Amino acid sequence: MQFESAHSGQDADNGNGIQLRNQRHPDHVGQQDALLGRKDLRGGNTAGKNPVQESRNAEDRGTVEVVLGETALGEVVHVAQDDRPVVVERSGRPKPPGHAGRQEGQTQDGQGPSTGTANGSSEAGFGREHRDCILAGRRPRVYALRVIRVLPPYRGAAMGLHITGGSIITPRGPEPADLGVSGGKVTAVAAPCGLPPNTAVETFDATGLWLLPGAIDAHTHFGMPLGSGISSLGWRESSEAALLGGTTTVIDFVNPQPGEPLPDAVARWRRSADGACLCDYGLHCTVSEALPERLAEIPALVGVGIPTFKGFLAYKGRLMLTPEQMKALMHDVRRAGGMLLVHAEDGEVNAAAQEVLVNTGRTTANWHPAAHPPESEISAVKTALALAAETDCPLTIVHMSLAESLAELDKARPAAAAAVYGEVCLHHLAADASLYGMGQDRALAAICSPPLRSAADAAGLLAGLADGRIDFLSTDHCEFPLETKRLAARGGFGAVPNGCGGVGERLTFAYTLGVVSGAMSPWRWMQVCCQKPAEIMGLTGRKGRLHPGHDADIVAFDPLQEFRWDALGASDGPGNLYRGRTARGRVVQVWKSGRLAVTEGRVVTGTAGSFLPRRLSHPQAI
Ligand SMILES: [Zn+2]
Repeated sequence: MQFESAHSGQDADNGNGIQLRNQRHPDHVGQQDALLGRKDLRGGNTAGKNPVQESRNAEDRGTVEVVLGETALGEVVHVAQDDRPVVVERSGRPKPPGHAGRQEGQTQDGQGPSTGTANGSSEAGFGREHRDCILAGRRPRVYALRVIRVLPPYRGAAMGLHITGGSIITPRGPEPADLGVSGGKVTAVAAPCGLPPNTAVETFDATGLWLLPGAIDAHTHFGMPLGSGISSLGWRESSEAALLGGTTTVIDFVNPQPGEPLPDAVARWRRSADGACLCDYGLHCTVSEALPERLAEIPALVGVGIPTFKGFLAYKGRLMLTPEQMKALMHDVRRAGGMLLVHAEDGEVNAAAQEVLVNTGRTTANWHPAAHPPESEISAVKTALALAAETDCPLTIVHMSLAESLAELDKARPAAAAAVYGEVCLHHLAADASLYGMGQDRALAAICSPPLRSAADAAGLLAGLADGRIDFLSTDHCEFPLETKRLAARGGFGAVPNGCGGVGERLTFAYTLGVVSGAMSPWRWMQVCCQKPAEIMGLTGRKGRLHPGHDADIVAFDPLQEFRWDALGASDGPGNLYRGRTARGRVVQVWKSGRLAVTEGRVVTGTAGSFLPRRLSHPQAI
């Protein structure tokens, strides 16, 4: 069911997946009629009406989203419930070519990299004025014009929330507990039926479900531009996938341009995230120029809550620092009270390997891992550990992909004066290098750095995560549509953007691979996905635990559901490494800051997340 106005210019039969959902919820459709009045919209009498105001008025009964229109790429532009001008989501059904003129960068089938604006929208179908309004944060002149869905009322926004009948995860395993929520915070963790009766709160019956703190992914790249008009999937799409998978907080990377001051890069990156990211988010800042003026900016970033920096020993000629430069960076990061995250691959070794491959014509996707030999990672892990020991700089080795890297970490830890952490990412546990031999598409989907390794490495890393030698689980989420990788592959594997999705898959597949297999306890699984990232990355006291006073980011998780995984939300299906795999454990409900964010497998919030200033509190950090 849909509503049309004279302004919409949309084909009344041009449905999308969202409308189909409405058809499955006749109550909601009826509510639409009651709230907005079919006649008003169908008659085109919208000039004096403000759909945002309608949305506000309706908030206590249900939340209305109103479509502005659709772009030629099939993106739905609509007014959000919290009065932001527009947000964009993919309808999943691109319009045919020629709908509004084929755009540069689009492929023949209308798909392809967005050519659009900073928030991911395209000007196709709207025109420059409309696009400029969006960029300037102003509301476009034409509202309109079709209600796509009515969301259920907030839970706990004003009244408070009791979640009863579920189990929280403790070191002894799942134990029954009821949760009280008010003002966006957890207010009580009580024994079953232990919350004081209160008829003025919403209640949610979590019988049979586990209740977890909102998961934290400490390593993401949302909307990361790579040049040539290619960016990883944006903040909105990626954060929707995160929420659907139970991740309510991400820590993303700021990547300064050459010559760009770090504070300017941070400000630029926050502009791209604010209003678009539905998760709360923190930021790490990459330092790829170890110049005195850049290093001098580090304390200021620590002061505004960005205490973690990243240095690359890989990517020669672009991001790579020499060991001497890395040492200088570590020195200044330590002095400022920060921590350095290191991408540990040796850029010289990788560049030499790639040159040999290119010179011998071995440039198809299956050769990608040969340009990232294991000895490159092992050598760089040793270098990073040695430099951290020399400078007493707290260190995290990110995305370790080899069991031997873990062995090097084990050796270095006892003598380290400052904290040394190890991170592993989901794809290095859940997949292995055999994908590179399964045809171009599967090889392309698996192109990431470091690459997928052997099944034995994956097993060794999972064991390390389970027994505590690896500290936390991230995703390095950096998702590119498979079609983007296909186009880039014409220039050889070296031209293919590196990265995989996973932010929405992490909680469920860590459970499937870890807990269901018996490799780790539910407590350890919760720790590596929720608690440890908070503690290590400076969010202690606010995130990562279900304790009174913490943000009420809560996941209701069904540990028994077994199902075939499909790509989440706006994630790219064909490029998804997990699609079609059997998964166990489903996220069934998510609250962020006490508000319902996900239910019935769909995102039901348009409320943007907040920037999270962080402050490190490692016992060993100086
Ligand atoms: Zn990364």
